[in-house]
Amino acid sequence: DNAKTKTKKRPACVAFDMGATPCFDDAILAKYVFLSHGHIDHVGALFSHARAHAVSCGGEAPTYFVPAQLLPQIEQCRNAMSMIDSFTTTTSGDENKTTGRENLLKMTLVPVNPGDEFPLKGITYGSKTNFFVRAFEVDHAGHTALGYTIGSRTKTAGLKREYQNLDGDAIRELVQSGVRVKAGTVEKVEVAYSGDTCRHGLMKDCLHSPESMNEKLSKSATFLQQAFQAELLICELTFLDSAEDETQRQRSVERGHLHINDLEDIFASHGRLNSNDENETKSILFYHLSGRYGPASRALDYIAAGLPSQIRNSCQVAIKSLLSEKEKAAGHGIQQLLQPNGCVSVEDYLRWKKGNNNAKA
Ligand SMILES: [Zn+2]
Ligand SMILES: [Zn+2]
Repeated sequence: DNAKTKTKKRPACVAFDMGATPCFDDAILAKYVFLSHGHIDHVGALFSHARAHAVSCGGEAPTYFVPAQLLPQIEQCRNAMSMIDSFTTTTSGDENKTTGRENLLKMTLVPVNPGDEFPLKGITYGSKTNFFVRAFEVDHAGHTALGYTIGSRTKTAGLKREYQNLDGDAIRELVQSGVRVKAGTVEKVEVAYSGDTCRHGLMKDCLHSPESMNEKLSKSATFLQQAFQAELLICELTFLDSAEDETQRQRSVERGHLHINDLEDIFASHGRLNSNDENETKSILFYHLSGRYGPASRALDYIAAGLPSQIRNSCQVAIKSLLSEKEKAAGHGIQQLLQPNGCVSVEDYLRWKKGNNNAKA
């Protein structure tokens, strides 16, 4: 009933970008939206979202984190939207007028620069964990573009990891000599989002020479490195055919997107291709596939063939928009692999393919 749904706390929901997505409904509840850059496939549904969110969430205005340089343009668009929304024909009939800013679409806009960090108020996990967002600079063919990480900070009563195996006497000794043995808070990078970028935007320490670094940029570089330690990294991947020649790879840089052959260098630069247990539990989700590699199973073949083998089994692919009519049919094998979020795991896909080939043989 109504009273119950009002008091029940909604699960935390955030969104990266608000473009043309078949999953728009899922994003309506997002109270925080992080915009990477101004291309229509990333911002096109911004104002629909603001209105749909307000309608679904008791008039609440969502908060949009936007690249600082785009703030004036976004404000201008909001004003134009509000003007269309409030346009009326006067009863005297001789003059049309808009009532202007009093009907301004409800949205909180927060300008973001690379190296910035903001607390995400109102999102908690238990009583001891809260969350923050950090922004880093990427390289999207000259467009102002950001990537984001969302991290958690948990208050803890326990000891720092390096002291956990010591006995009571040793701990007491350390405390007496002034060493802080308690962890206090533990920080973890939960999820990272690359936005649109070419390889230079994601390679470790690639965007600026050490001489041109300042405090903000070096923070940004640190946040990028943290993105590759995230439990879930949502990473763009546009060009998929590893057999494509150097010209095509050059084109991917000019367009500001990743080529599948860039992944090896990028992940190696962040130490993600060394086999260690910690890396194996972390997931990578690729999105932004170019439609020219469709349909879905063809794109997945390219991806499975081109991924560095060390990360292949940790990878998911957002594939839903590439499904052909045939692949959308209920009986098609790919339907069994498709998760409710529109993604397919590369490991599942390869296992399914192997089963198929064995059946044929
Ligand atoms: Zn773009
Ligand atoms: Zn894009």
